Amino acid sequence: METFAVEGLPEIREGDDLAGLIEERVDFEDGDVLCVASTVVSKAEGRKADLSAFPASERAKSIADRLESVAGERKDPRFAQAVLEESEALLTEAPFLLAVTRFGHVTVNAGIDRSNVPGADLLLLPESPADSAERLSSALSVPVVVTDTSGRPFRYGQRGVAVGWSGLPAARDWRGESDRDGRELGVTVQAVVDELAAAANLVAGEGGGGTPAVVVRGWSFGDHASSDDLFRREADDIVREALRGWDFG
Ligand code: GDP
Ligand code: MN
Ligand code: MN
Ligand code: MN
Repeated sequence: METFAVEGLPEIREGDDLAGLIEERVDFEDGDVLCVASTVVSKAEGRKADLSAFPASERAKSIADRLESVAGERKDPRFAQAVLEESEALLTEAPFLLAVTRFGHVTVNAGIDRSNVPGADLLLLPESPADSAERLSSALSVPVVVTDTSGRPFRYGQRGVAVGWSGLPAARDWRGESDRDGRELGVTVQAVVDELAAAANLVAGEGGGGTPAVVVRGWSFGDHASSDDLFRREADDIVREALRGWDFG
């Protein structure tokens, strides 16, 4: 498997034909998967925003106050308002805002980004990264994974995850297959879109590299059952359940 960045993409602006800009710079081959940083998908979709667009509600003000008293950091209440508006629920309100986005992805601050956003305060995640991936995939005739850099519980550091995908399943289901000793695998469902996203994110980098699109070549899903589930349903999520009683301080 080989991964390489699409070189020479410009700063992406609202309304840009992202698929066209990528297509001009890559000769896709059969079996390629294209991974694209959500940042540029959002920019093309006009998801830059200023704090002034999010007048703070009482709830946002109280969240900002609580964050300040628990984390010792003053967040603009309008930022809390933006997170609230992008979220279906908040799992924690302190020491940081852990949000369930409207499309089901759980991430800090609803994935609202302040890096690589010239000319605006904030960049919101695409409204529906799955739909964004679907549009890119049908324009380019390759499977597409939309990625974002995200933190993880239990571990320091961030890595790329899939927030939307199209043209390939989310996961390889190994259950029922055998290990080297012939023991049947009972639980392993491999979240391949996250693994592709992490590989691509490694190539894309986090700073000013200007390489938001990465081609994965020579990887294949293989002969496995598949699953399209990635975002845990609430009923299956014991962590979410445990956080329900969380004392926000
Ligand atoms: P995120 O992980 O989706 O939040 O995206 P990042 O902000 O980490 O950016 C990922 C990569 O895309 C980095 O190499 C950035 O330099 C690059 N990048 C971000 N915005 C643009 C853009 O508008 N144009 C280009 N060419 N690169 C960008
Ligand atoms: Mn960013
Ligand atoms: Mn991001
Ligand atoms: Mn990133």
